Amino acid sequence: MIPFDYTTADNVESAVRAGTVASTRYVAGGTTLIDLMKLGVERPTHVVDLNPLVRRDASLGAVADLPNGGLRLGGLAHMSDVAWDARVRERYPMVSQSLLLAASGQVRNMATIAGNILQRTRCPYFRDTGTACNKREPGTGCSAIHGINRGHAVLGTSEHCIATYPSDLAVALTALDAVVQVRGSSGPRAIPFAEFHVLPGAHPERETVLRPGDVITSIDIPPVTFARRSLYLKVRDRASFAFALASAAVALDVQSNTIRGARVALGGVGTKPWRSHEAERALIGRPANAATFHAAADAALASARPQSQNGFKIELAKRTLVRALTEVSA
Ligand SMILES: Cc1cc2nc3c(=O)[nH]c(=O)nc-3n(C[C@H](O)[C@H](O)[C@H](O)COP(=O)(O)OP(=O)(O)OC[C@H]3O[C@@H](n4cnc5c(N)ncnc54)[C@H](O)[C@@H]3O)c2cc1C
Ligand code: SF4
Repeated sequence: MIPFDYTTADNVESAVRAGTVASTRYVAGGTTLIDLMKLGVERPTHVVDLNPLVRRDASLGAVADLPNGGLRLGGLAHMSDVAWDARVRERYPMVSQSLLLAASGQVRNMATIAGNILQRTRCPYFRDTGTACNKREPGTGCSAIHGINRGHAVLGTSEHCIATYPSDLAVALTALDAVVQVRGSSGPRAIPFAEFHVLPGAHPERETVLRPGDVITSIDIPPVTFARRSLYLKVRDRASFAFALASAAVALDVQSNTIRGARVALGGVGTKPWRSHEAERALIGRPANAATFHAAADAALASARPQSQNGFKIELAKRTLVRALTEVSA
């Protein structure tokens, strides 16, 4: 680890000011940042601790009702607190499930909602400073494309990066059209979740639309009545403490066996949390049966591009989605 100075933030405005200084990183739970600093992947010279902000404004670490019937998840709320919140479990089961299927109890007790959606890829080359990686060091090349790529993405890749986006929670949030509330040097901004993460393209080092100094204060989930009937299904190499090979966040509004509304997003297969409007279009207005679910899965993966070792993910993701739709419609 290289030397860095550590300061605490007194209020959001001072955090934003500190965050605009070059080579500064915020720390919340530290479960991503500190790992990457130990590996030499992140090398900030200033680290600003956001945790004291919750003592001044408890809403930053809490779940609150929104006037429209939605929920506001504080940016510094812990994953475990959000996962077990009764309102989250009742209104958005897929959010609670996506959190409880992530990491371990200990990690979830430390880690925060904002830190979760900003976690970096688990691509082994990204975490190994002895290898070429366009995301870590722009212009050096991508070791994964002709290397070990079993865990990599099949959707949204580019010739510069094929890294899988890792958060489970983000998959549920994109399905629900959540909104990221940010405070920055030019004031507050609301960023629709679909626009928050960006595709790698020619600049895989850029992962979100955040600007230097931006602090995520909350993530707002709008009311989606039929999300009470939703599911997050995660398939992985072992039953716990592993990232998704494929996952699906689904919600269905089924009336008289006809699908009136649908939300579908995939994880473990995309370079960003992957909302599938194609699958939703294949579901809405159709009967809730196996043929419809298979058609939706085919639509969701139609643009998938495999690498040398990860072709199995295309079929796995289809089966994961079909199973999730079948379970949620039962
Ligand atoms: C062993 C292990 C297994 C895991 N398994 C899974 C898994 O299966 N699924 C899954 O989804 N995740 C998994 N994770 C990832 C884990 O969920 C994240 O590390 C965690 O959510 C990050 O939150 P944090 O508060 O610790 O972030 P930090 O490490 O503190 O910060 C992460 C990044 O977010 C920035 N940041 C933090 N808060 C803010 C804010 N409010 N505003 C602006 N920037 C901010 C920081 O500057 C940093 O760049 C795993 C982690 C570990 C260590
Ligand atoms: S896939 Fe992306 S993160 Fe992995 S080595 Fe290639 S450029 Fe780096």
